[in-house]
Amino acid sequence: MANHCCEMMRSNLETVCDRHPDRHDCPDCLIDFWPTAPAYGIMIHDGGNSMIEISYCPWCGTKLPSRRASASR
Ligand SMILES: [Zn+2]
Ligand SMILES: [Zn+2]
Repeated sequence: MANHCCEMMRSNLETVCDRHPDRHDCPDCLIDFWPTAPAYGIMIHDGGNSMIEISYCPWCGTKLPSRRASASR
């Protein structure tokens, strides 16, 4: 299990509600995490799996790992 920057991030990533087994279908799920990248993103609920990658935690402001940063290194 990955270590997330704060409790808000962790609880958001672990949120799975009863009505939406797929987190991408759930309007209450804000953030997704790619363990393989690793990177964090805000889900776009457009019926697909779109996401906007974020560089900083919206709750605690911690700089997050991002695919863009690691690609340019
Ligand atoms: Zn955080
Ligand atoms: Zn839901």
